[in-house]
Amino acid sequence: MSRRRQIYEGKAKILYEGPEPGTLIQYFKDDATAFNAQKKGTIAGKGVLNNRISEHIFTLLAGIGIPTHFIRRLNMREQLIRQVEIVPIEVVVRNVAAGTLSKRLGIEEGTQLPRTIIEYYYKDDALGDPLIADEHIACFGWATQEEMNDIADMAVRVNDFMCGLFAAIGIRLVDFKLEFGRIWENEYSRVILADEISPDGCRLWDMTTNEKLDKDRFRRDLGGEAEAYQEVARRLGLLPEGEANSVLDLEKHRQKRGK
Ligand code: 5GP
Repeated sequence: MSRRRQIYEGKAKILYEGPEPGTLIQYFKDDATAFNAQKKGTIAGKGVLNNRISEHIFTLLAGIGIPTHFIRRLNMREQLIRQVEIVPIEVVVRNVAAGTLSKRLGIEEGTQLPRTIIEYYYKDDALGDPLIADEHIACFGWATQEEMNDIADMAVRVNDFMCGLFAAIGIRLVDFKLEFGRIWENEYSRVILADEISPDGCRLWDMTTNEKLDKDRFRRDLGGEAEAYQEVARRLGLLPEGEANSVLDLEKHRQKRGK
């Protein structure tokens, strides 16, 4: 059996050459990093859960007309995707103050924002993904104005849809990160949603307890990260009944830790 060709290895995923030209296989690892990879660890089963959660959300988004790179899930940890040229911009959508927004501007975490904020960060690990303005994007040619209009429109639609999706299962969508990629059709290109949408790149808070159900549990050493990711998958209806019963609840986890 010939080994397939690895195209790229990131912090949480590996990309392999796909079975047909223009396709890739996206493999989800259990590895977790934070603070620009200064903190490293693993979350048992994270890759399997993120693969399922991302499949679910990308499929629903395709259903409302958002073009995405997702083709189909292949197995527990892999999905077939369209090969794109990644736009080197991380798009962060915020509904509630948290994380770097709270830190940078001194706004208390949990403050509901009077309007949704879309921010752009330049995707560059060596620089620590700095916050940028539209002006930088235009000046350095990272994306055209037309692409940025499409990206902003899609980010707003994804946010509206996901706020409803998560509210229906008792989860507040605080903020999240999106990535987009370019695909070429003849001499024309367009941008489509790429990467993944999972608790790795979203802040998800339980609506009644404010419990964090996302990677902040890892970033902030809260523990119970695997349980939190399972809880999100369970509420989205992605775990079989048997497994749903075995999900540890976070309240019990906290009590066990004596907090
Ligand atoms: P913040 O800027 O507050 O750290 O992050 C805002 C949101 O974007 C959070 O939901 C966070 O998970 C997500 N995010 C920002 N940068 C990254 C990144 O490099 N990787 C991942 N997985 N998520 C990110």
